[in-house]
Amino acid sequence: MSYPSGRHFLQIPGPTNVPEQVLRELAKPTIDHRGPEFKALALEVLNGVKPVFKTKSPVVIFASSGTGAWEAGLVNTLSPGDKVLMFETGHFATLWKNMALRLGLEVDFVSGDWRHGVDPAVVEAKLAEDKGHKIKSVNVVHNETSTGVTSRIGAIRKAIDKTGHPALFMVDTISSLGSIDYCHDEWGVDVTVGCSQKGLMLPPGLGFNAISAKALAAAKTAKLPRSYWGWEEQLASNQGGFFPSSPATNLLYGLREALHLLAEEGLDNVFARHIRHGEATRRAVRTWGLEILCLNPEEYSPVLTTVVMPGDKGADAYRNVVLEKFNMSLGSGLGILKDRVFRIGHLGDFNDLSLIGTLGGVEMGFALAGVSHKKGGVMAAMEYLAGQ
Ligand code: PLP
Repeated sequence: MSYPSGRHFLQIPGPTNVPEQVLRELAKPTIDHRGPEFKALALEVLNGVKPVFKTKSPVVIFASSGTGAWEAGLVNTLSPGDKVLMFETGHFATLWKNMALRLGLEVDFVSGDWRHGVDPAVVEAKLAEDKGHKIKSVNVVHNETSTGVTSRIGAIRKAIDKTGHPALFMVDTISSLGSIDYCHDEWGVDVTVGCSQKGLMLPPGLGFNAISAKALAAAKTAKLPRSYWGWEEQLASNQGGFFPSSPATNLLYGLREALHLLAEEGLDNVFARHIRHGEATRRAVRTWGLEILCLNPEEYSPVLTTVVMPGDKGADAYRNVVLEKFNMSLGSGLGILKDRVFRIGHLGDFNDLSLIGTLGGVEMGFALAGVSHKKGGVMAAMEYLAGQ
């Protein structure tokens, strides 16, 4: 294969493009994770990551992917046979449900069409009818990366509060953290699950749990077996600036730099940038005459747009053309959406011209792959961006 000149466009909805400044940090020599230099780094990132969750509570950082952080959330707070309320918003919600079942939890899995988020009214109804408080936890994926649908966590919190139900509230922010506004404390979330490779602009390898006082209390009596994922040991070591086992030192250098970059841009500006790029992308999709998978405009994801393939098939062949011709990776359809949709990631280290390049590759790919569409999507996005 000849050298593909120019930069690869990694436009899947995570892992995302890693900024040069972060890449340089990742390349630094690894240091003694029990020495004073590491201690300063650890204390800085353990505290510095809290504003991204909008929390004053502790955040633990595992050397893991997001899946590990999911497991940590469940095993620290629940006991075998506990009932968990979960929602079929898409592929990742389904995987989290499967994990809960494998761990021996009982799951009430509210079915869904993969085109809507969690309905706060359903949460309220489910909890209101649970008079005996059998449900121990309500688990929601904030941004369903397989569909491009964002559930309204603040409204779900209000729905829980209306019933006065004492269940824990766990939220997966794996593809929203650092890209979509999120308030762990204000929304009374007990465990927020995050990871490094999306809005935080790092490679995969760090998993996060932000932990409320109520979740910490639940951990004292929860009986699911846990060892590596136990919060207690993590928190005890973290207090002194250390970790119970070898941490992902170089990723923590990268995290420190990524947090500086997010702070420099300002979190509110980061969120506004993602909303703007989501809108520009949807204008392009509509101009092409194609269908956006998400059906509720209140739930459009600012970080990715899922496009339904005309004829409901052929998305993978189309994505291959884009990869071969333009050196750009688009997200595939996952689970029941395999080959039926493609996903445009517009999150992380990204700007107007990166978006226009991305949409340009998408539109040129349609022509080359023989996908029926109307021209002018890129132009519609350009007009929107230039007018803002
Ligand atoms: N949850 C969501 C919403 C995701 O998008 C992903 C991965 O993309 C996961 C969970 C699983 O995370 P990981 O692949 O890092 O284990």
